[in-house]
Amino acid sequence: MQGQIEQTKAEKKKKILIVEDERNIAQLLAYNMMQAGYDYDIAADGVEGLRRALTGEYDLILLDLMLPKMDGFEVCRRAREKINTPIIIVTAREEEVEKVMGLEIGADDYVTKPFKLRELLARIKANIRRASNEFVKKPEPEENIIKIRGLVIDLNRYHVTNHGAEVPLTKKDYDLLVHLAKNPGRVFTREELLEQVWGYEGYYGDIRTVDVAIRRLREKLEADPTKPEYLFTKRGVGYYLK
Ligand code: CA
Repeated sequence: MQGQIEQTKAEKKKKILIVEDERNIAQLLAYNMMQAGYDYDIAADGVEGLRRALTGEYDLILLDLMLPKMDGFEVCRRAREKINTPIIIVTAREEEVEKVMGLEIGADDYVTKPFKLRELLARIKANIRRASNEFVKKPEPEENIIKIRGLVIDLNRYHVTNHGAEVPLTKKDYDLLVHLAKNPGRVFTREELLEQVWGYEGYYGDIRTVDVAIRRLREKLEADPTKPEYLFTKRGVGYYLK
């Protein structure tokens, strides 16, 4: 009996919180989560969504932006102060994508409605996998600090300084910076970065995600973002750091 209980525990389904006020969409999402082998809960407004998110019992949160009582931006920002659960923003408008990515509300990803189911599932899987890897991965003691001129990345403390001043970065921007800094001079295509940093298979990713993140990193790191000293563009190819 004991063995059986442990086995059930080990195979515990991942649980997804769906924050969505449109009933049809919420039910469509719920049905597909169930089909894909996930447990789920639905919250139909922002206040309830935040309350549930803060319980910390979810492996991932699908968050609509336009919600009654509290909008998705606010839910995301407040949730992020307390929990590290991956958050995927589900937005109806293509134009909102850059806004979402640029706002630094702490979202991990986004999809646009109407979403393609396979794409959404691939992103859910990638985000859950990355979150659980982060939990397990520990950096090797001897390679804990990367120094590139004034730029110092402390891998143990997830801490970045530039000429002694702290550089506040979102988790994803930090991951991108570390990935580039571990391979100085190596040019990565945007597709490679999507796959290696965001964890997508190239087919599903949106390369604008990389452009927006690079732009944001430059604004944080470079004295003059238009004349970068660290983060360079190889025209027609991709990005590199040196
Ligand atoms: Ca809505």
